[in-house]
Amino acid sequence: MISVLEAQEFVLRNAEKLPVISLKLEDSLGYYLAENCLAPLSLPSFRQSAMDGYAFIHTNETRLKVTGQIQAGDLFTPQLKPGEAVRIFTGAPVPDTADTVVIQEHTTREGDTLIIEKLPLPKANVRPIGEQLTAGALVLKKGHQINEASIGFMAGLGFTEIKVYAKPNVCILTTGNELQERGTPLKPNHIYESNGIMLQNALKRLGISNIQLIKVEDTLEQTSKAVKQALEAADVLLVSGGISVGDFDFVQEAFQNNGINEHFYKVNQKPGKPLWFGTKSDKSVFGLPGNPASSLTCFYAYVLPHLRSRMGSLNPFLNERSAVLTETIKNIHSKTLFLKAGVTGNKITPFTGQASSMLNTYALSNALLLIPEDTEQLNEGDAVTYLDLNF
Ligand code: AMP
Ligand code: MG
Repeated sequence: MISVLEAQEFVLRNAEKLPVISLKLEDSLGYYLAENCLAPLSLPSFRQSAMDGYAFIHTNETRLKVTGQIQAGDLFTPQLKPGEAVRIFTGAPVPDTADTVVIQEHTTREGDTLIIEKLPLPKANVRPIGEQLTAGALVLKKGHQINEASIGFMAGLGFTEIKVYAKPNVCILTTGNELQERGTPLKPNHIYESNGIMLQNALKRLGISNIQLIKVEDTLEQTSKAVKQALEAADVLLVSGGISVGDFDFVQEAFQNNGINEHFYKVNQKPGKPLWFGTKSDKSVFGLPGNPASSLTCFYAYVLPHLRSRMGSLNPFLNERSAVLTETIKNIHSKTLFLKAGVTGNKITPFTGQASSMLNTYALSNALLLIPEDTEQLNEGDAVTYLDLNF
């Protein structure tokens, strides 16, 4: 059985990048850049007024003659001589000869005469060319995840299309004869299927929307067939349940039947020990435990960083943060524990109800408290590490 760290290394080492695609800037939210982007122009690309006021050649003279006005967007600028000023507005081009803008609140007018009441420093309120960025400079690096600010920034540089890594097609396969779809009263000894929709929504938070859900009965034949079909369509296959050692757990055999190359099976952790990971050419396959809390924990710890890495992220894991423990925790298992927990301020409290079958406390958790396998006890007041579930 391998450790959590070894398992995380495996899922990253075997995370083949998805194809590079060209996207319209407006459609690129959440994608990761597949190349460094260089500035096609300087920002600003002309000398701009930062305020509404008057442009002039800096002087200690406080009475100047107003000779014209320049509005934002004007194609031409009047030139001006010492002793002259032009009315100017925010974003308007500053004439080549002018070096300073005095804000209008610091002036008064007497007809064509401008009276400067508070003299600004030379060069005040003029945005020089390239103040933000010079042409040819690095705009955003390969691996950067596009957010709304990136889109605004790149739009300001005139980008229309950018190169990003594609997002994967994912197939979620749920196994279990006891599983029933919602919408009808439960049959005896059945449970409502919940992992499928949960994993689907976890994927949605990663911006992945191309998701197929398939349900199979616990037979080797059905499972093998469903895995085969899923592999034809999907880049990533998530199978829920059927990966343990029970007589009706056929998932591992179905993976073997389909020639999927196993990288590991079983991780020294709680919950989620019976986790399976493999690849077949550029397809990745996870066998997730059926217990809902185990399934979701394995998603956060392994599936999420694997997918982010395939999508081009350079920093694919959930953020690890530090907080102060509010109670004593014992680890009698010599396993890494992922405990559902609540963080408020700098304090972290593990919830009661850590069983792998329970989602009641998961629904309230904003953190997964990490207890290393070699740590036997942590005390109230100790600094601990947790995975931040707000991502
Ligand atoms: P398994 O991993 O198939 O042995 O399942 C472990 C436990 O998780 C069993 O109690 C299953 O009923 C439950 N389980 C498996 N798959 C699901 C699912 N898709 N939704 C909810 N519970 C599940
Ligand atoms: Mg099962």
